[in-house]
Amino acid sequence: MRTVAVTKIGSLRDPDEDVRGRIGVVDFPEQPLGGEDVRIRVAYSAICGSDPHLAEGFFGTDVPIGLGHELSGVVEALGDRAHRTGLQVGDRVAGNFLRFCGTCTPCRAGRQQFCEHIQDYNRPGMAETVTWHESQVYKLPDSVSLLHGCLLEPTSVAVRIADKTHIKVGDRVAICGGGPIGQLALQVMKRNGATSLTLIEPIAERREMALRHGADAVIDPVAEDQYARSEGITQGAGFDVVIDASGAARAVRGLLDIAAKGATVIYGAMYPHDFEMPLNLSDYLYLKELTLTGVFVSPYAFPRALQMLPYLELDDLTQSVFELEDAAEAFATHIGGAYPKVLIRCNDIDDPRRAS
Ligand SMILES: [Zn+2]
Ligand SMILES: [Zn+2]
Repeated sequence: MRTVAVTKIGSLRDPDEDVRGRIGVVDFPEQPLGGEDVRIRVAYSAICGSDPHLAEGFFGTDVPIGLGHELSGVVEALGDRAHRTGLQVGDRVAGNFLRFCGTCTPCRAGRQQFCEHIQDYNRPGMAETVTWHESQVYKLPDSVSLLHGCLLEPTSVAVRIADKTHIKVGDRVAICGGGPIGQLALQVMKRNGATSLTLIEPIAERREMALRHGADAVIDPVAEDQYARSEGITQGAGFDVVIDASGAARAVRGLLDIAAKGATVIYGAMYPHDFEMPLNLSDYLYLKELTLTGVFVSPYAFPRALQMLPYLELDDLTQSVFELEDAAEAFATHIGGAYPKVLIRCNDIDDPRRAS
């Protein structure tokens, strides 16, 4: 079964080809179909901002490392006991690449993100098929195309970010980073009643995208004074909610200064293992009473992300599509940054809801 994988560990951005990481298409055996499993013929699998981190060996260095956790497809086969979700062969689906076991101590305590068996069904989905436990699979709404449906997983991250901000209607909100998570978080926060909704992003096309999808203001952190602009946008109050979706060490430093007193600041990205941010406890925690938090994965968010999909503007995030065999080129395009999201078509599946 053809699967997109990291075939050599290294930064995909390294100008030196000898040390640069490499993406290729390898042949993996198809996973066995357990009694409670669902086999999905994958339609689209999106490249995630975290995938290049996998190429750098963030989660291990034994190659090949199969990739792909943002996917849509069609149910091809069901295990003989996979009947609790009502799924049928032929259903259009997306899902959660992680299976929360439901039985370990964290799962039973309502903290599935810390499930001790979280990796058991984490299988590469940038492949012809993927086999998941039925609890991971969600039927797409009729109005959502397979093309858009592969964004269920990143949408679940945006929903979890929104959950963790504890936003109240009318809160002023800033988002740093206009990649897919930042753009999806922006749309989700807009529907949560965000005001003075501001995207901080150096790439002009991404700022324009945010303005098309509900941002009230945008800041170019390279060309503009981010603090002065934030003061202007919020009439000196600061933002009640600040979300980092950039994962960039340089970008996150100034976010505590644009936060209002009592604000919540959420670091909603992946950061380098060794990144440490200086934090003045007197200024930010004592005097300003900031709440700082983050997001690892998104338990309990998938059913609501599924509800949100028909309401989101997803065309801008599904413009760049490559065939499975052109995966290396797709990753080069992702790294190039011209498109916020790059998709891989793993099978050409006829979709009655094909996006116009
Ligand atoms: Zn992802
Ligand atoms: Zn568990």
